[in-house]
Amino acid sequence: MEQLKTTSKRPNTDRLPSIYSLQFEELQDWLMEQNEPKFRAGQIFDWLYKKRVTDFEEMSNLSKELREKLSNSFILTNLKIVTRQESSDGTVKFLFELHDGYSIETVVMRHDYGNSVCVTTQVGCRLGCTFCASTLGGLKRNLEAGEIVAQVLESQRAMDEVEERVSSVVVMGIGEPFDNYDELVPFLKTINHEKGLNIGARHITVSTSGVVPKIYKFADEKLQINFAISLHAPTTEIRSKLMPVNRAWPLPKLMDSIRYYIETTGRRVTFEYGLFGGVNDQEEHAEQLADLIKGVKCHVNLIPVNYVLERDYVRTPKNQIFAFEKVLKKRNVNVTIRREQGHDIDAACGQLRAKERKEETR
Ligand code: SF4
Repeated sequence: MEQLKTTSKRPNTDRLPSIYSLQFEELQDWLMEQNEPKFRAGQIFDWLYKKRVTDFEEMSNLSKELREKLSNSFILTNLKIVTRQESSDGTVKFLFELHDGYSIETVVMRHDYGNSVCVTTQVGCRLGCTFCASTLGGLKRNLEAGEIVAQVLESQRAMDEVEERVSSVVVMGIGEPFDNYDELVPFLKTINHEKGLNIGARHITVSTSGVVPKIYKFADEKLQINFAISLHAPTTEIRSKLMPVNRAWPLPKLMDSIRYYIETTGRRVTFEYGLFGGVNDQEEHAEQLADLIKGVKCHVNLIPVNYVLERDYVRTPKNQIFAFEKVLKKRNVNVTIRREQGHDIDAACGQLRAKERKEETR
C-alpha cells in the first residue's frame, strides 16, 4: 500500500492526446501557440460538448487549416459499446472497450430529479477491498481524463435519444479516484466548465476509500463538489479486514483528514456504509459508528450490499437494516438508506466486468 504514495500506472502516452483531456484554458493556450484567436476555444468546446460531434471535420465554423491542425494534434476518444443493458427501472449499464482492448463500466441511473452517471476512473483497482469484484485482477492502468469525460459524453448521447440530460455525475465506478488524482481533477473541471458539459459542482460527487494525503490535497482545491468516503466500518479492526487501505491510513488519520476537509471547504461529507451480514451490521456497530462521527458535519448513506459472485459476503436482512438506521437516528445522525437500482442488470460495482472477464478466459 506504501506504493500508493509514490507511483501510479500512467495511461499509455504513445498516442496523440485526447482533446477531451484538455481543460478550456489549456485549449486556449494551444490555440494561441497555433496563432489562432482564443475565442475559438469556445467554438471547439461547443462542438465537443454541446453538439457532441465525433469528427473534427464536422466543426464547420473552423477553417480547414485549423481542423487539420486539431486532427494532427488530438484524437476524439471513442468508446466502443460492447454491451448496453437496460433495467426495468430505467438504469442503463454500458460496458465500453478502450483503444487497447481493456473494458470499463459506466452506469446511467434515472431518478425523478434527473439522470446521474457513475463513471470509472481506472481499469481494475489495486486497493483490494475484500468485498469488491473490481480489484480481483489488480490494476491494469489509469484512465486518461479524456476517457473519463468520454463516459459522460456517451451517456449523454444515450440520453439524447430520449431528449433528456445528464444532470449529475458520481465518481464511484471501478477504481479509486484518488489513485488517479492527476487525471481526476482535469476531468472534474471540464465537466463542470460552463462551456463544457456544464454540470454544476453541487451535482458532482467524488468518493474515496480513504487515500488520506489526497484528501488534504483535494480539500485545498476548494472545488465545492460533493465528497463521499467509503467508510464501511466503525472501528479500525473491522475496517482493516474489509479494506486494506486502512492499514496504510488507519481510521484516526482518515478522520483527521476529513475534519480538515470540512474546515477548509465548509462542506459536509457523506459516509458510505455498506452493510455486510454479520460483519458490520449489528446495533453495537451502529453505536460505535455514531461515536466515531460525533461532531462531524456529515450524512450517512447505508448501502444494503448486493451479493458478489466471487466474494463470501451476504446481504443484511431488511429488519436489521432498519434496526441499524434506528440506532443512528436516535443518536441524531443524519442517515438514509440507499435505494437499489438496476438490480436485474448487475449494477453493483465491477460485477459486469468480472463476468465478461470470466467469459474471455473460458
Ligand atoms: S471498492 Fe473501490 S477502492 Fe475498493 S477495491 Fe473496489 S474499486 Fe477499488
